Amino acid sequence: MLNRVVIVGGGTAGWMTASYFKAAFGERIDITLVESGSVGAVGVGEATFSDIRHFFEFLGLKEKDWMPACNATYKLAVRFENWRQPGHYFYHPFEQMRSVNGFPLTDWWLKNGPTDRFDKDCFVMASVIDAGLSPRHRDGTLIDQAFDEDGNEMQGLTMSEHQGKTQFPYAYQFEAALLAKYLTRYSVERGVKHIVDDVTKVELDERGWISAVKTAEHGDITGDVYIDCTGFRGVLINQALEEPFISYQDTLPNDSAVALQVPMDMERRGIRPCTTATAQDAGWIWTIPLTGRVGTGYVYAKDYLSPEDAERTLREFVGPAAADVEANHIKMRIGRTRNSWVKNCVAIGLSSGFVEPLESTGIFFIHHAIEQLAKNFPGEDWNPAHRDLYNNAIAHVMDGVREFLVLHYVAAKRSDTQYWRDTKTRAIPDSLAERIEKWKVQLPDSESIFPYYHGLPAYSYMCILLGMGGIDLAPSPALALSDPSAALQEFELIREKTERLVKVLPKAYDYFTQLG
Ligand code: FAD
Repeated sequence: MLNRVVIVGGGTAGWMTASYFKAAFGERIDITLVESGSVGAVGVGEATFSDIRHFFEFLGLKEKDWMPACNATYKLAVRFENWRQPGHYFYHPFEQMRSVNGFPLTDWWLKNGPTDRFDKDCFVMASVIDAGLSPRHRDGTLIDQAFDEDGNEMQGLTMSEHQGKTQFPYAYQFEAALLAKYLTRYSVERGVKHIVDDVTKVELDERGWISAVKTAEHGDITGDVYIDCTGFRGVLINQALEEPFISYQDTLPNDSAVALQVPMDMERRGIRPCTTATAQDAGWIWTIPLTGRVGTGYVYAKDYLSPEDAERTLREFVGPAAADVEANHIKMRIGRTRNSWVKNCVAIGLSSGFVEPLESTGIFFIHHAIEQLAKNFPGEDWNPAHRDLYNNAIAHVMDGVREFLVLHYVAAKRSDTQYWRDTKTRAIPDSLAERIEKWKVQLPDSESIFPYYHGLPAYSYMCILLGMGGIDLAPSPALALSDPSAALQEFELIREKTERLVKVLPKAYDYFTQLG
């Protein structure tokens, strides 16, 4: 039985993997995690996908156990500002798309939308977020009653198994460093051996498999399976095993970021329960509200903007609160390692792959990889089918998300700087170009989006197409033959539900005060 796992790296990827595997396999698995005391974690990565709740659920944690410890907040959507033109915004919310007579409500909206805001007409969440409200009532009940109080109705399924069955109404935002600390305690209490030391060399046997990792002060560490969570360095997978990296930069040119962690009085400021992506001259700025501070950063392409100008723009954007805050400049490696599982090494996290954090997919990639590895964990025979299944699933998820992100830039109406003009002429994946032609006459559905699981359902594509405004869309011709009254009634129901909720839901900040 293979059961000795060595994890190199103690960022979000390392500790999520250690804690999940302990929760999954308990004492039957032996885990050693070694992390450098001198090379820090990337220190960003604070907004997530709604599926992340399955991770905490799997660990047996309730929100009140971990959220206050990680200054966590709820995220109900990504809010895109200025991608169409200055002053414009729209939401890509965590809310199931309604259908009427076989057509998505957004299709009816294209034909008979009550207002010019698809997000407010088709979703409840847009108005809830605008009002800065919590998706839970004061007594803890959820606004969407398809879920029980803890949202446990899908326990035991992996993310790919429950996609399309539900859409949980929110994700989390948290301090990455506090989460890593929380998961360290969780893992160590359950028997994970924690070593703080530098891996200085990776020993390979005659077949080229990893036989040990050498550390500066703790000698050789050996195991059956080695998990590379060393971030962009890819110390095991790229450096030692020389697995090549496939860059996505030809289609996603943003390769740099500068980040600030800005302490703020969130009681006074209030919490807008979403992550905001505000378009800039050469990229975009993220804003992530937590309970004690705001995390913010400018993601940009170095070909268009210098790090100094990016930092200056970010500081101006944040205002005086950022004056004494030190900036963290990060060079991003965009793309994926060709195969994340090679021989007895599996890369998880930034070593496996990364795309710019426009839809908060980094931690989602990690969670997905962990679920897939737990499912395909090798036996004594190292049957290559497990490895191949795993590698395919990981490649699909990243290639699919890449397409989705490229769509943001192709569909954005903005074209006021060279950076934005170039987004309209740059090559895009052929498959995406073909899909866009289809979406112009019929909004995306599960048959016309990237065909493998990648965490994004068809309605997410509709939101981006409708919100970004740069691609002309037409309602299905069949709607001209259809009676619109049921759709109009649905719009009215959403309006009434929104009005009711906005009156009774607590402010997001107040909800967290009571949770803590
Ligand atoms: P790291 O955090 O870099 O950790 C690497 C670990 O490896 C460290 O512990 C280091 O000490 C260790 N290490 C390295 N070399 C050695 C060695 N030789 N010996 C021993 N240990 C070693 N994701 C999201 O989901 N949402 C977001 O909003 C988001 N925003 C992001 C913004 C930016 C600008 C970037 C760059 C990423 C963002 N991500 C986001 C991605 C997210 O930050 C990462 O997926 C996540 O933090 C995991 O990183 P990691 O653990 O793989 O690597």
